[in-house]
Amino acid sequence: MKRLLLLGGVTEALAIARTLGPSHLYSLAGVGRVPTDLNCQVRVGGYGGAEGLARFIQEQGIDLLLDATHPYAAQISQNAATAAQHSGIPCWALRRPAWQAQAGDDWREVSDWAELVKALEPFKRPLFTLGREPLQHLDEIPPEQFWTLRALEVYPGNERCEVIGARGPFHIEDERALFERRQIDVLISKNSGSSATEPKLEVARERGVPVLILKRPVLQEVEREFLTLNETLEALAAFTS
Ligand code: NAP
Repeated sequence: MKRLLLLGGVTEALAIARTLGPSHLYSLAGVGRVPTDLNCQVRVGGYGGAEGLARFIQEQGIDLLLDATHPYAAQISQNAATAAQHSGIPCWALRRPAWQAQAGDDWREVSDWAELVKALEPFKRPLFTLGREPLQHLDEIPPEQFWTLRALEVYPGNERCEVIGARGPFHIEDERALFERRQIDVLISKNSGSSATEPKLEVARERGVPVLILKRPVLQEVEREFLTLNETLEALAAFTS
């Protein structure tokens, strides 16, 4: 029986984990919810870099590593590719395709926080949907801006920033209401490619609101890369049978 180590962190990873039996392992960083109703084993926490992960793979007799982490979780993806190579096992990855701009979209790519701040200068009411990073910059909000920041959990904001704690999937009516209530004039997003968070882009399009997109990190190529959950499940079924 082949043994799989599945690195998770996105919805599709949990869907894969639900199909796995007790000899397989589902690995989470520990930043989100940990499911308690799976048949496979669940491991929470880091490995101590690529070397630690390689050691774990060898100790546990893992035959295949499947990287189903978020497209912006570049460190763990790099560690996975390196550790699998050192351990002489294949590394596969589920890599969700990026969203593509459509007619009516005004998307502007930024590489990092400094470029983002510059690109934000003409705007007054940004909606940040990047995770927690903007929380470190609440003291730097320019006097003419009022921020709205959405993260997985609610955190303290200040008089110039409302912080909303919410988890997808998000619905278009709620996104419309949020843009209206906070009078959003620019949206800031990663390009996660997830349908669960896509409605905000539709609302930005409807309202003619520009979107500042944080560039996707370039990830190392691995033995096999899948674009969809179904493709991944089919390949896994063939490998583990
Ligand atoms: P990261 O920068 O690539 O990884 C940071 C460290 O977290 C890794 O070096 C590793 O620690 C540990 N880690 C990450 N994923 C792990 C996993 N599945 N199992 C065990 N350890 C893991 O990742 P991140 O951007 O902080 O994201 C952390 C987790 O949240 C990822 O699993 C990702 O899929 C999920 N997530 C990220 C985003 C995002 O926007 N970045 C969004 C949604 C979900 P060691 O080096 O000690 O092994």
